[in-house]
Amino acid sequence: HIDRETLKIVVVGHVDHGKSTVIGRLLYDTKSLPEGTVDRVKRISKEKGKPFEYAYLLDAFEEEQKQGITIDTTQLQFHTQQRDYVIIDAPGHKEFLKNMISGAASAEAALLIIDANEGIQEQSRRHGYILSLLGIQKVYVLVNKMDLIGYSEESFNEIKHTMNEFLSNLHVFPLKYIPISAFHGENITSRSEKMPWYKGESLLTALDLFEKDKGLEGKPLRFPIQDVYKFDHRRIIAGRIESGALQVGDEIRILPSNKVTRIKTIEQWVEKDNHQSASAGMSVGITFEDEFFNQRGEFIVHAHDTSLVTDIFKASLFWMGKAELVKHKEYKLKLVTQEVECEIYSINKAIDATSLETIENADSVKTNDVAEVVIRTKKQICIDEFKNNQHTGRFVIIDGYDVCGGGIVSGLANEIQVHT
Ligand code: GDP
Repeated sequence: HIDRETLKIVVVGHVDHGKSTVIGRLLYDTKSLPEGTVDRVKRISKEKGKPFEYAYLLDAFEEEQKQGITIDTTQLQFHTQQRDYVIIDAPGHKEFLKNMISGAASAEAALLIIDANEGIQEQSRRHGYILSLLGIQKVYVLVNKMDLIGYSEESFNEIKHTMNEFLSNLHVFPLKYIPISAFHGENITSRSEKMPWYKGESLLTALDLFEKDKGLEGKPLRFPIQDVYKFDHRRIIAGRIESGALQVGDEIRILPSNKVTRIKTIEQWVEKDNHQSASAGMSVGITFEDEFFNQRGEFIVHAHDTSLVTDIFKASLFWMGKAELVKHKEYKLKLVTQEVECEIYSINKAIDATSLETIENADSVKTNDVAEVVIRTKKQICIDEFKNNQHTGRFVIIDGYDVCGGGIVSGLANEIQVHT
């Protein structure tokens, strides 16, 4: 099963709306728990005089994982026929936001859980906001505890309508709303007989329908220049292909200078012979048909690609500097091989990473908080929106000599957008 596909998901929702129960159910129903876990947890519950809860399975599972040395305790796994799943744990928003923005953990899809009986709470809204902040677009909303409202179609539709309205303002468009009872296992592995009015898929079937992102090889070419070497009178442009592929003869564009030429040769350092093509993840040297003055930090893309050079853009930022992040101070921004001076042009939102309280139009961002900002660079740079390319859509901010923040590019900005 070495080349099975893995999808990383995150489960978010207001406390007590059923996060752990859903995860416990998924682990249980896909037989992903170690032998005997269920029996043991049932026995312990009985001894304590408490009714059995699927949520306890999660604690027991984590406990068992901790005892094994080889298994990563922060990542729960389960498997379907189709592929493997990893649940990115979100122990507190702070760690989750930090890990997601810095790239330490990356969820491709999300399940947002809402208690049907309690409806949408402030936290549900904030979690919706987190998804938008992180650019997670593959989202299912699970309307849980349907048993408590008599499996009512009407209430389900009401919640769906309200949530849809709220999320669409954040540009999050859930792909599905699934009515479930995690506790009773309704609509988890198969369609529930309690909700014949629901014509969609069960949770597990729906999970397998999340489409995996295209691999880096399938994306547009991004080849940031690391170094330029002179070699036997030739200029060899060296770097790592972050995404896409290139071939001898390809017409390419060098950004931001916007010069166009063709690739003459591709050289790899290890073997002596020339190559005809290279793709994402490979470190190569290339030569051009025309010689220009090239330098570190420039991006090589295919000639038809023109849209990613800018000096102003929107970003989601995690700040960990000792000093607060402030507007209009000079920082350094590093994005792959580019290094450029920048300033924070506006702080549209500063968010307390623990409580998710938000301040609009803030003047500063505190240590360990998150912000939605507009960044302005002194020179034009090449960027991608994070949702399109995780390698060229992520950057760090340096204050003095210290890395003080990590960010992801959430969108292009222009001055007009900034002021509205
Ligand atoms: P979390 O805080 O979001 O992880 O929520 P839990 O999974 O711990 O669930 C909170 C409580 O809700 C527990 O007592 C669960 O048994 C209960 N619960 C979860 N799902 C359901 C459900 O579908 N129906 C009912 N009636 N209770 C549920």
